[in-house]
Amino acid sequence: MYQNIKVLVFGMARSGYEVAKLLSHYNNEIIVTDAVEQDAEHVAELKDLNVRVEITDDPSKLLNESFDLIVKNPGIKYSHPLLNLARELNIPIVNELEVAYQFMNHEAQIIGVTGSNGKTTTINLVYNFLIQEKDDVILGGNIGTPLSHYINDIKPSTILALEISDHQLCDMYKFKTNVSVITNITPTHLDFHDSYDRYKAIKHRIFNNHTAEDIAILNTNNEESLKIAEDIPSQKIYYGSNNLDKCYFDERAIYYDGEEVVELKDILLKGKHNYENICGAIAAVKVFGISNASIRKVLAEFKGVEHRLEFVAEHHGVKYYNDSKATNCVSTNIALQSFNEPTILLLGGTDRGHSFYDLKDSMGHVKAIVAYGETKNRIADFAKDLGIQCEVRDTLTEAMHAVKDLQASGDIVLLSPACASWDQYAKFEDRGDEFKKLVAEINQ
Ligand code: ADP
Repeated sequence: MYQNIKVLVFGMARSGYEVAKLLSHYNNEIIVTDAVEQDAEHVAELKDLNVRVEITDDPSKLLNESFDLIVKNPGIKYSHPLLNLARELNIPIVNELEVAYQFMNHEAQIIGVTGSNGKTTTINLVYNFLIQEKDDVILGGNIGTPLSHYINDIKPSTILALEISDHQLCDMYKFKTNVSVITNITPTHLDFHDSYDRYKAIKHRIFNNHTAEDIAILNTNNEESLKIAEDIPSQKIYYGSNNLDKCYFDERAIYYDGEEVVELKDILLKGKHNYENICGAIAAVKVFGISNASIRKVLAEFKGVEHRLEFVAEHHGVKYYNDSKATNCVSTNIALQSFNEPTILLLGGTDRGHSFYDLKDSMGHVKAIVAYGETKNRIADFAKDLGIQCEVRDTLTEAMHAVKDLQASGDIVLLSPACASWDQYAKFEDRGDEFKKLVAEINQ
């Protein structure tokens, strides 16, 4: 337990604020530092708790004072000068989740989901399945409210559904889950982790402190995640698209333990990647005895996580999907492969010079492209080469008016732009929100 010590919280935002508040109740001396001005109310509240807040560009100088612990925000790069200096001085570096874990009731059960892709979707499914039958479930970790905020609410009967990013895994030591899910491991975030081997070593930490009583849920469609779990003592439960897996899907349905759970036609989420995520989530909640009826109920209504192949609405037989998070061709390919129906694809955004030809093998069912934003002319060239009809507009609003003229009953209208949104929006969420508004507008 962190008590009667001096702590530097490096990076404030919401998690630094929550962890400083938590630590302040245990007679610790705390300094919070950040490079940018923070929410004034939060700062005032911390000051009332005798927490010092230092906004500075040069936080390393704070290490002129001696500290017993650094709580690092997961977004700060490992090679930051302050952290290099802290390592030289042998000051332990942990993160908010590790601190919260040490204070929480350890009889509570933790389900942790990590992986390169699909974490948010999977943990949201886990949470939604659980709340059908359990009263005391908390969703958190890398999404929502930091765990430190909930410490006093966590009872022995609580189930915590936590999304855990690799950035968080970097600084966790005592933290352990009861059930860990790895969705998949692919070479991403390598800028942050320097090498693929280091990235995999970090992902392995989702099994930290596991014993034979704990459970690892592994995707047989992803060899890397099977490989890194080779040496763990945990009980292994497999999922994927192999009928030997405990939970698997085929062309027709999803099965668990030899029993059909749900037919694919009764699931709102689309795409093989999502069927994988569903299987991982089912395997996790079956550990807690959740029934097939509850799972079916959620899957009939769950529209997906916002902006990730999110089902928006159906109007006059046309279904609209918002995949604004797809800022590169890899994600847009995944979205395109999720449908067989005639599709109108909205493509475009910030021009980073990337090629659109990586999409060509997934375009068989695309009846038209509507291109907009900085990349619109390069997309038009690509469409012309493929012989696909293409309308070119400047903005998403104009593009949606073009969609109105092109769409017919039975079509899918898919915003999966394969580009960042910064040419016209501050963030992809704003672009997705505007799309949803426009869907309603063109159908008035
Ligand atoms: P994360 O939280 O890991 O970023 P999300 O659930 O938010 O993952 O999904 C983000 C995007 O990742 C999706 O829009 C989709 O393009 C892709 N994705 C989701 N699940 C998978 C999966 N199981 N395999 C491959 N790609 C996936």
